[in-house]
Amino acid sequence: MKGWRVMDIRQGIPVSTGITIGEVFLLEAEGVRIPLHFIPKKDVDRETARLEKAFENALAELKNLADDLSAKAGRKIAEIFFAHVGMLADESFRGEFFGRISDKLYTAEFAVARTMRHWRSIFQKDGFMAPRVTDLDDLEKRLLRHLLGQKREELSNLKSEVVLVSHDLSPSQIATVDAGKVKGFATDAGGPTSHTGIIAAALGIPAVVGLGTITNEVTGGDTIIVDGSQGIVVVEPDKETRRRYSQKRKAAMKSDQVLLRELKDLPSETKDGHHISLMANIESPREIGKALKHGADGIGLYRTEFLFVGSDSIPSCDDHYRAYMDAVKSLEGRPLVIRTLDLGADKFNSHQPALKEHNPFLGLRSLRYCLKNPEVFEEQLRAILRASASGKLSVMFPLVGGVEELKAANAILAEVKVQMKRDGEEYDSQMPVGTMIELPSAVMGADALARNCDFFSIGTNDLIQYALAVDRGNEHVADMYRPEHPAVLRMISMTVDSAKRANIPVSLCGEMASAVIYTVLLIGLGITSFSLAPPQIIPEVKKIIRSINMSDARDLARAVSSAEDADHARDLLTEANEKIMKAAGIPSL
Ligand code: PEP
Ligand code: MG
Repeated sequence: MKGWRVMDIRQGIPVSTGITIGEVFLLEAEGVRIPLHFIPKKDVDRETARLEKAFENALAELKNLADDLSAKAGRKIAEIFFAHVGMLADESFRGEFFGRISDKLYTAEFAVARTMRHWRSIFQKDGFMAPRVTDLDDLEKRLLRHLLGQKREELSNLKSEVVLVSHDLSPSQIATVDAGKVKGFATDAGGPTSHTGIIAAALGIPAVVGLGTITNEVTGGDTIIVDGSQGIVVVEPDKETRRRYSQKRKAAMKSDQVLLRELKDLPSETKDGHHISLMANIESPREIGKALKHGADGIGLYRTEFLFVGSDSIPSCDDHYRAYMDAVKSLEGRPLVIRTLDLGADKFNSHQPALKEHNPFLGLRSLRYCLKNPEVFEEQLRAILRASASGKLSVMFPLVGGVEELKAANAILAEVKVQMKRDGEEYDSQMPVGTMIELPSAVMGADALARNCDFFSIGTNDLIQYALAVDRGNEHVADMYRPEHPAVLRMISMTVDSAKRANIPVSLCGEMASAVIYTVLLIGLGITSFSLAPPQIIPEVKKIIRSINMSDARDLARAVSSAEDADHARDLLTEANEKIMKAAGIPSL
């Protein structure tokens, strides 16, 4: 029955690997799912009557609303609702909805969704009408509400598995979805290392962002394939495409399992014996089990702000402590690097709502926020120190701009220690303190920073965004977000040199650590510890490490670093990577 629809293939930005095939849940359509699409011919009259009733109810509701508002605030303000009344009363507009029931045998809900989609695309192409698209959304929601009534299936209460399609998703929205039911994400907006993608990866849910207009191309209930490894989305796939992707998914899962079995207990070292530590990134202690199962040596980045994001209260010192102790227990003596709150920019909760900032990514975020809110910072530091008495903990500060900020953070940490000593609380007085290198100013000032901390962790997600002035979450400039850009490679190199001079370790915890094309290059640049996500990638990275010599890695780093531009660097990397993967025996799927 659905054969009339043409398969649609879209390229977006891959942010969470894996393949999923499922039914679309379109978040914009009032966050409800349209349960059935087609009816038998005998039900046309019944379905037409349902739609007529919904129109009638919606019209009555809108007239009341318009009259009410008109009386309270004047006719001008109520104009918008009178316009909605006009649209619903327009015979030719209405005719389209009913035609879809009688001619195409759609359910009333599906007829509404499809007709509105048709009109949305007409409005969007017309400069004058484009701003009115939200009116169509509004009308669609109203009609669907009347049609579905109590039967509405909402995102917060899904009964079956879906793929979530939406214009954009905030980290807090994505952090609160039911991962047992939401099996994939596809969004119009979003960039290569947006936090939305990072959380999707942590949940193990395939995701593609930056698809432009995917929300216009699908209707709730459509079948969709999300290939989060290649960044491809297929809407209404034909039989052959479905079969191909099912096979690909099975092959990828099998290859992951084989790699895991083969490598889990082998050391992560190069052929000539250089050890490279492989840690995992987490947003919650719940993820630790999976990380260890895949061979992580410990946790190299715990993004603690997710205790805040998506919650509606400020975590107390005890809340922090409980979470850290959960992590300590699961790790059984393995290292845990806790990053202090990286709130702000795109990460908020209801107690720290978005400030009105023109440039939030250049605003009061991260360590800057903590230094201006010492009471929030101190609560967290006390909890970290308390947990340090029971496990192998380190703390690190995000988005450090220069040595004055690091010194200010260190001073607050020292003050909390004094208070704890006074209160007789135990903590590890030798707990290492790290600096995240995420800003060009931190790279330039790395020598001084190194003298004031115990280790560096390079956060390439932010470092790339700030070095190249390319928003990491913006699909319009995603092609300019280039980890292999000569400026970025030089900054990584400079950071490693400063760390070496001060004799402190340096690891890398941005998404660049998880993209295997960069593994050998980064080792050649002097990185000796990676913190990765999702952990499923660890066996593959280990396999690559075990197939190379340090001298090969250094040669590659020298060649790529001397490339004049990112394109040339990428070509060199692609060519080298094909050989490396072949030598390592990793199949390209
Ligand atoms: C980074 O910026 O590379 C990083 C690891 O931190 P986040 O992605 O949380 O900003
Ligand atoms: Mg960062």
